[in-house]
Amino acid sequence: MYRLFVLAALLVLIYYLVRRTFRKLGQNDLMTNSKEGKKSGKQMIQDPVCRVFVPREHAVSETIGGQTYFFCSRDCAIAFQKQLSA
Ligand SMILES: [Zn+2]
Repeated sequence: MYRLFVLAALLVLIYYLVRRTFRKLGQNDLMTNSKEGKKSGKQMIQDPVCRVFVPREHAVSETIGGQTYFFCSRDCAIAFQKQLSA
């Protein structure tokens, strides 16, 4: 009878351990997802003027006609605006 009680307690313990492990795995998935989200923040964008690829966070952004464009430098942004107005 005592053995049965220990066995039951062990089963409950294993059940909780397994459940906790799976919950941790789930959290890790969430963490990797958020890391990927940060990675996409370092997305490369192409300068429409000189066709150079620049990390989005280092790019010069310019909103023209309600649309945001990204450039490698302010010079390219100015050149693009000139192209549009020409
Ligand atoms: Zn450029």
